[in-house]
Amino acid sequence: MKVSAYSAASAGASLEPTTIERRDLRPHDILIDIKFSGVCHSDIHQAREEWGRAIFPMVPGHEIAGVVTEVGSAVTKFTVGDHAGVGCFVDSCRECGNCTAGLEQYCQGHVSFTYNGREADQETPTYGGYSTAIVVDENYGLKIPAGLGLDVAAPLMCAGITLYSPLHNWGAGPGVRVGIVGLGGLGHMGVKIAHAMGAEVTLISHSPHKEADALRLGADHFLLSSDTEAMKAARYSFDLIINTVSANLDLDQYLSLLTLDGTMVMVGLPLDALSVRTFSLTGARRSLAGSNIGGIQETQEMLDFCAEHGFGSDVEVIDAKDIDTAWERVVNSDVKYRFVIDTSTI
Ligand code: NAP
Ligand code: ZN
Ligand code: ZN
Repeated sequence: MKVSAYSAASAGASLEPTTIERRDLRPHDILIDIKFSGVCHSDIHQAREEWGRAIFPMVPGHEIAGVVTEVGSAVTKFTVGDHAGVGCFVDSCRECGNCTAGLEQYCQGHVSFTYNGREADQETPTYGGYSTAIVVDENYGLKIPAGLGLDVAAPLMCAGITLYSPLHNWGAGPGVRVGIVGLGGLGHMGVKIAHAMGAEVTLISHSPHKEADALRLGADHFLLSSDTEAMKAARYSFDLIINTVSANLDLDQYLSLLTLDGTMVMVGLPLDALSVRTFSLTGARRSLAGSNIGGIQETQEMLDFCAEHGFGSDVEVIDAKDIDTAWERVVNSDVKYRFVIDTSTI
């Protein structure tokens, strides 16, 4: 079927209206009428080839929320009318140890990313959520709980799970001092989720004007990274730091904030190699780790957790014609705190 979309023709090109083809439903497929699609910094990295060669034309978008309008003959998980979401991948090998353990994001075979990827046949390009409809295997769709608006639910599909997974894995909760670096799409979800888990949360930011919002979103403290005295005073005071920043930072400065056995988890993805003084790790038996989105089961758990605690993302809803402007604002750390495209404007 033909579907309206916005696509980039080549690396760095502006996004233009187009039409794409979606496959006919297979027995396990569902058709989702997309209502909202979040704008992730990864969309920009990939459309500008900041992570290397990409597949064009590119229809970005992996924070998809909509309504199921058709189901394949063997579908059991969804019925027509359900609110459904799609995140960063639409298929994986389903056979490797990680897939069978529900960690599809770490599939050792072929993963089909929602866009800038290829389907299971490893040929057909995938197209993402900056479009009006998507066909996806029910096993890779998420159920959006009642009570979560589709606009505020869309960013949970990437930004929400990318912070929930490491916070959960590294045991954020009461008595754990968590630092979230960067108050953007990912970071603001980190503040909300860590707070809801009961942790003591500090937002570490390079933007002085974000303090009031950080506290409103659930942070207990605000640390301005350019305030050298405050950064010095905060040494050894965190158990867990999640770094969401899309640019390279002086990691030694951030590692020095960790206490004995503390861990800093990288989720932000600047392309350049990291540089770390070994002494920053050995000096307090610290760990430097990484984390990538989350599996389907964990993403569902995160959606239920957010619904139970009564929050989604803080969003600015935009028309599709304003995507380029929104992207510039994201690059300038000027978003409160996730742009979401109203796909009825595509
Ligand atoms: P975003 O909305 O642009 O947020 C990034 C934040 O980093 C900014 O709001 C800003 O926060 C801070 N920042 C930006 N430039 C900076 C600089 N030069 N120096 C210091 N701080 C800076 O981006 P996002 O959508 O949250 O994504 C963040 C990163 O995570 C991207 O690299 C994205 O590709 C990656 N990502 C990774 C995963 C994963 O699974 N690992 C998933 C999704 C996205 P302050 O103004 O508060 O400092
Ligand atoms: Zn993303
Ligand atoms: Zn696999």
